Amino acid sequence: MTSPDLETRLRRALRDVPDFPTPGILFKDITPVLADPVLLREVIAALVAPHVGVGITHVVAVESRGFLFGVPMALELNVAFAPARKPGKLPWRTIRESYALEYGHNELELHEDALRLSPERDTPARVLVVDDVLATGGTAAATCRLVQRLGGEVVGVAVPVELGFLNGRQQLGGCPVTTLLTF
Ligand code: AMP
Repeated sequence: MTSPDLETRLRRALRDVPDFPTPGILFKDITPVLADPVLLREVIAALVAPHVGVGITHVVAVESRGFLFGVPMALELNVAFAPARKPGKLPWRTIRESYALEYGHNELELHEDALRLSPERDTPARVLVVDDVLATGGTAAATCRLVQRLGGEVVGVAVPVELGFLNGRQQLGGCPVTTLLTF
């Protein structure tokens, strides 16, 4: 569980930007969190804590703000990191999934070998999917589908901020979601 103190400080740090990137969207800007190393470290620690010792093998995070949380989480967990990127950004062979955003449509790609495991391991990759904000859930769901298409098991989705009123969890088929602050 998130400490009430961390939740409050995270809530205060986030900056609401109305009508960005399109009219009607209230954008949750996480850059003030990145600017506060004490808060950022606590956010990373709180997102990592429930996933220690459960056999995670990979963190897969979503371009681009997901990387800011996903890389330090992978380092903390001492597991591989793999980026899910917008089409045409990853240089090697990829698989692709389409999804609907709160503000538009998009596609994500993952390298075909993103979930490679050591040859002696015969169980699937156990993956934690990371992003900054869970909104309608389309992005996280597409990332989970990419992981599953590569034979990986999605152990959970972790995001610092959830826009609960958009019911993004419903897209995730019961997959456990770790979040520190829900609107
Ligand atoms: P969704 O697919 O609707 O869950 O959208 C999640 C993705 O879009 C995440 O990568 C977020 O960075 C971004 N996003 C969607 N809505 C917002 C919002 N209101 N504030 C900040 N980021 C958002």
